Amino acid sequence: MTRPDLHVLLDHLADKALRRETPERTELLDLLSSDDADILDVVAAASRVRRRYFGHRVKLNHLVNMKSGLCPEDCTYCSQRLGSSTDILKYSWISADEAAGAAAKAIGAGAKRVCLVASGRGPGERDIARVADTIGAIKGAAPDVEVCVCLGLLQPGQAEQLREAGADAYNHNLNTSAENYREICSTHTFDDRVQTVGAAKTAGLSPCSGAIFGMGESDDDVVDIAFALKAMDPDSVPVNFLIPFEGTPLGTRWDLTPHRCLRILALFRFVFPDVEVRLAGGREIHLRTLQPLALHLANSMFLGDYLTSEGQPGADDLAMIADAGFTVEGTAEQTLPAARHDLVATRKRGAGTTLPTNT
Ligand code: SF4
Repeated sequence: MTRPDLHVLLDHLADKALRRETPERTELLDLLSSDDADILDVVAAASRVRRRYFGHRVKLNHLVNMKSGLCPEDCTYCSQRLGSSTDILKYSWISADEAAGAAAKAIGAGAKRVCLVASGRGPGERDIARVADTIGAIKGAAPDVEVCVCLGLLQPGQAEQLREAGADAYNHNLNTSAENYREICSTHTFDDRVQTVGAAKTAGLSPCSGAIFGMGESDDDVVDIAFALKAMDPDSVPVNFLIPFEGTPLGTRWDLTPHRCLRILALFRFVFPDVEVRLAGGREIHLRTLQPLALHLANSMFLGDYLTSEGQPGADDLAMIADAGFTVEGTAEQTLPAARHDLVATRKRGAGTTLPTNT
């Protein structure tokens, strides 16, 4: 594609996104195949959309790994998988108090959302009770913090239990295209994951679902997963870049470049103009010195460490945000644009509250 043609495409994609229109597959494939030399034009076009809906705010999220390692599932990218020989921390459930203590520190550093994560195929009843206690402990100390829960595949009724316990959101990533999914996991399916996201949404939990890139996916796979996520209408979309852990089947894959990561983030901004696009795992090792450019595309990021690997120091993240001209989003500020909130209102009445049900 010539530079003038690329500029026409980028203007078109930005204008469409500002009208909340979904791009065409061919437009996104052209975006992904654009030259590295044109990356600033790509970032500039997508940043128009980011600024329209999210200004210069950056929402900070913090992960608390409540149960680490020893998972019976075999997701090839994961250091906690069955058969992983990665030297990670392995522990069973931490207490509600320990999790609340970790959450309090992150909230003090600016985190607006706490993500409670546990390894495993899915939770049992005792696990739901443990998480309910933890949500109570966190919200008892910080009532305004958002709590997202990520426990794997949900059984009927469990999403409702989590909602009643005070969870605001549920995370379950689709990770890669339906076509590519069987290449990265044999113990559950893409459809299993879609079903859990749907169950969370039906229960009134804000749906959070994203992807991981750098696992051998083609450009078509990138577009497929973006459209599959779009079809579920999530409120937040974490964009991860593979952390190649030694001791996992993908431990030697280093396919990504900083420019490809930025093109993928721009694509997600065009497909999800008014949705929280979160810069997630792997940003430090793949974007490297270009991380600040990603803030012009994503409006949200994780602060601190990931589930089994260490992130860059939180103080460096805060300095990067300030240096790039952005501000940390406060609890009193609304993340999603008002029009989107009107469409997806999280329940604040009925079960789990003192307000009457909507009947
Ligand atoms: S991604 Fe989740 S389900 Fe898959 S192996 Fe890791 S902890 Fe288990």
